[in-house]
Amino acid sequence: MLKNDMLDQWDRETFFHPSTHLAQHARGESPTRVISGGQGSHIVDRDGNRFLDAFAGLYCVNVGYGRTEIAEAIAEQARELAYYHAYVGHGTEASIRLAKMILDRAPKGMSKVYFGLSGSDANETNIKLIWYYNNILGRPEKKKIISRWRGYHGSGLMTGSLTGLELFHRKFDLPLTQVVHTEAPYYYRRRDADMGEQAFTAHLAAELEALIEREGADTIAAFIGEPVLGTGGIVPPPAGYWQAIQAVLDRHDILLVADEVVTGFGRLGSMFGSDHYGMKPDLITIAKGLTSAYAPLSGSIVGERMWKVLEQGTDENGPIGHGWTYSAHPIGAAAGVANLKLIDDLDLIGNAAQVGAELNAQMRAALGNHANVGEIRGEGMLCAVELVEDRDNRVFFDPSRKIGPAISAAMADRGVIARAMPQGDIIGYAPPFCMTRQEAETVVSATVDAIKQVLG
Ligand code: PLP
Repeated sequence: MLKNDMLDQWDRETFFHPSTHLAQHARGESPTRVISGGQGSHIVDRDGNRFLDAFAGLYCVNVGYGRTEIAEAIAEQARELAYYHAYVGHGTEASIRLAKMILDRAPKGMSKVYFGLSGSDANETNIKLIWYYNNILGRPEKKKIISRWRGYHGSGLMTGSLTGLELFHRKFDLPLTQVVHTEAPYYYRRRDADMGEQAFTAHLAAELEALIEREGADTIAAFIGEPVLGTGGIVPPPAGYWQAIQAVLDRHDILLVADEVVTGFGRLGSMFGSDHYGMKPDLITIAKGLTSAYAPLSGSIVGERMWKVLEQGTDENGPIGHGWTYSAHPIGAAAGVANLKLIDDLDLIGNAAQVGAELNAQMRAALGNHANVGEIRGEGMLCAVELVEDRDNRVFFDPSRKIGPAISAAMADRGVIARAMPQGDIIGYAPPFCMTRQEAETVVSATVDAIKQVLG
C-alpha cells in the first residue's frame, strides 16, 4: 500500500480531477480525500475517518456501499466473459436480461433500451436519435433542443450545452447554437414575489410557448428536463408543471426527453420520476441508479413513437451509425441486474420513500424557522436547504462568501457528507436508499450544528 504522503504527492502531480480548482489543487491549497472503503451509508478514508454519506457519492450509490451481491455478480461475469461487444446483433445474457428488467419497470409506451456508459453519453445518444428521427420524417429544420436554465444533463459538447449552469459554458464556447434555454421551474426564486405556485406554472408554460413561437415550432425538435431539477439546486417542480409543459409540447409536436439519471430507479420513492409526475416522455435517460455506480452503465430508453421511425430509418438507410465499444458492457449489465434485484428484494424504494419523508420532516422541524433558511424542499430521498442572508426579503448571500461550501465543510468535520450545490448557497442531500431513521437524525443534527458554526 502506498504511504499517504506519497499518494498525496502523486495525486497533485499527475491526476486531473473533474470539477476541481486545478491550480489550487496542484499547489496543495485544497485538501485531497482518498476514499478507501464503504459499508451501508458510510464511507471511510485512508486516514481512518468515517463519514455518513448523505449524498450517496454523486447521488448514485443508491443501494449503499459494500453490497457483496453486486460485487459477486461482477466477479462472476468477469470470470465467465469480461467483454464482448453488442454491435450487429451481438449480446450477452446479462445485457439482454437487463434490457428486459428495465422495460418491465419503465413507464408505459417505452420500447427499447440503448446502453451507454455515462449520463452524458446517454444524452448525446438521445440528441442524435432525435435528429435522425426528424431527418427520417423529412423535417430537417426541426432540430433545436429546449433545455431549462439550471438543468443538468452532462458535460460533453452537446450535453454541456443542454446543462443550464454558467460554469459549464464559460470559456468552453458553449452552448452550441442548436440549444435554447427556458426559465427554471424554481418557485422560491421566482421574480414576482406575489405570484402563486399555480400562476407560476402558468407563467412557465406561457414562457415556453412564447419561446417556441419566437424560434418557430418547425425548428424545435425536443424539450429535455429532469423530473426534479438536481444539480441546479434540488428543486421539485411547482404544482401542475409537467402537465402544463406536456400540453405545450404536444401542441407543437415536440418530443420530451425525461432525464432520469438521478430520479430513475427509486430516488423519488417511486420507480421513475416520469410516472411520479405523469410525464409522457419519448426518451428516458438512465444512469447512476441503474447499477448504483458499482459499474459505469447508462441507457436511453426509447419510446414506441420514436422506435417505429428508427426502424423505418434503417430500412431506408442501412444499420444505424451509432455505437460505443462499451455499449452494453457485460460487467456493467451484470451489476445492473444484481442491483435492480437487490432494490426489489429489500424494498429499497419503499425505504427511500419512508426515510426520505422523515429526513425532510425532521429538517423542517429543526430549521424551518431559522432566520437564514429560506426554503427546505425535497421529494422522496432528496432534500435541499437553501440559505439566505435575509429570509423575509429573500436576499441571497453574496456568492463570494461561499456560505454553502463552508457549511458543507463544517458538516464533513462532523462526519457527514452533504453537497454544496454549485449555484446558490444550497446544501443538497441524496442519501443511499438504505439510510436509517437514526442516520437521518444524524444528518439533520450535523446540518444544524454546521449552520450554527458558520452563521452563528
Ligand atoms: N443527467 C443528470 C440529471 C445528471 O444529474 C447527470 C450527472 O450528475 C448527468 C446527466 C450526467 O451524467 P454523467 O456524469 O454520468 O455523465
